[in-house]
Amino acid sequence: MAFVIVRYSEIGLKGGRRKWFEDKLEENIKKSLGDVVKRIKRYYGRIILDVSDEAIAKIKLSKIFGIKSFSLAERIEFNNLNDLVEKAFEYFKDKVKGKTFKVECNRVGKHDFNSYDVKVVLGDKLSSIAKVDVKNPDVECWVEIRNKEAYLFTEFLNGPGGLPIGTEGKVLALVSGGYDSIVAAWFLMKRGCKVDFVFFNQGSDLQKYFVLKTIKKLLEWSVGYENTIYVVDFLDISMKILKEIKPSLSLVVFRRSMYSLAEKIALGNGHLALVTGESIGQKSSQTAENLYSAEYGIRIPIFRPLIGLDKDEIINISRYVGTYEYSEKVPELCSLLSVHPSVKSNAPEVIKEFKMIEPLLENVNIEKITFDKLEDYLSKISYIEKEFTRSLSNFGESGRIKIFIGKRKIPGVISLDFSKVYDFVKSHGKDNKYLLICERGISAYVLASKLKKEGYDVKYTSIEKFILHKE
Ligand code: ATP
Ligand code: MG
Repeated sequence: MAFVIVRYSEIGLKGGRRKWFEDKLEENIKKSLGDVVKRIKRYYGRIILDVSDEAIAKIKLSKIFGIKSFSLAERIEFNNLNDLVEKAFEYFKDKVKGKTFKVECNRVGKHDFNSYDVKVVLGDKLSSIAKVDVKNPDVECWVEIRNKEAYLFTEFLNGPGGLPIGTEGKVLALVSGGYDSIVAAWFLMKRGCKVDFVFFNQGSDLQKYFVLKTIKKLLEWSVGYENTIYVVDFLDISMKILKEIKPSLSLVVFRRSMYSLAEKIALGNGHLALVTGESIGQKSSQTAENLYSAEYGIRIPIFRPLIGLDKDEIINISRYVGTYEYSEKVPELCSLLSVHPSVKSNAPEVIKEFKMIEPLLENVNIEKITFDKLEDYLSKISYIEKEFTRSLSNFGESGRIKIFIGKRKIPGVISLDFSKVYDFVKSHGKDNKYLLICERGISAYVLASKLKKEGYDVKYTSIEKFILHKE
């Protein structure tokens, strides 16, 4: 059996609510460690765990919000100062051999000695085998005395800080799966919020698969709350926006449409705020003016924890969170990204344009995935990743009308904007066969999936595969 001393962060400061915070932290630790934790003891400012597996405990505790630091320790019982020092010496002697050290001690309980005595007597005994250095020792020999027991350790491992999840209210994070929005959601978890997610899917199951995988990775941190994920079918709305809204305003109107729908979900499900990953000026759609216009008239607070962070700071956090490699894989559609928005939109004008889209928001399909179903859900759609790659190289072009989505000129291929392809295929009917091509194959895949569902014979590929392909 090993022991772990857990120290909390700010929850120690919470006055009357302190016990409640501690209970929540203890509950989250139990949930996360499951069978690994055999017994829990609480002392002022400490939670002490008996665990059956140190390695698992170490990994799990480093992701439980509310924990400031923890130490893997040995527990001893003692009768008097001499007995304590003898036992502590046995524990520390191999750890300090050939190194410099100092002894640290804190004490709770009634004893006929104090912490200083422990430091002097134990320090003296250890100095027969190692050298004391109180300023910059290689090893700190810690003795934490709690009544008739003492915990011995040499290391402080970092917890993530923050507040235990569940001690703050419920919020709804808008996540694209990208680095920013995932980190933004993480920050709210860190502050103890119960975070649900909404993803506006402008792609197909392929996007959904990668975004859900990224969220699942993030949920390693969400001990203590069973999150819900809303997936909104947003392709039709995006296409409508691209087609109907002035290009200079389309991105801001798109953002406004997301806020509006998210607001509706939030108001209906008890969320107190929306959370997004914008950072001022990071993109032309994220100027103060454009955020102002997009948010104008939204009746629920929007939390933007990344507002003052630089991209490289966000990326570093995303590595720490562990979602970097996941976000990296989320396929992005080139279509909307190619639009250059005005950096200074005007709110009334944005709202006026948005009014054209607003009625459509009434009828979008929203899928709700609960935490307990996520694993199953992902395994059901995991075939998509392979299928996507296989179909990219397996398209058979002969007899197909070839369409490149974008502006490239390729002999024998028609070039069309993303928003025009769908109507083009519809107007050329089901007697023709089609091959859609785009830079990475993602937009082509998205449109081909939609058209296939409607009974058209459409294949897709990327520009690279298309050029390399010889029939
Ligand atoms: P991210 O890295 O999160 O994708 P980004 O830098 O690409 O962000 P934008 O595309 O401008 O920035 O989006 C800004 C924010 O709007 C995102 O951080 C996210 O909160 C929200 N958002 C954008 N697209 C979606 C989407 N498809 N579904 C849900 N939220 C989205
Ligand atoms: Mg993005």
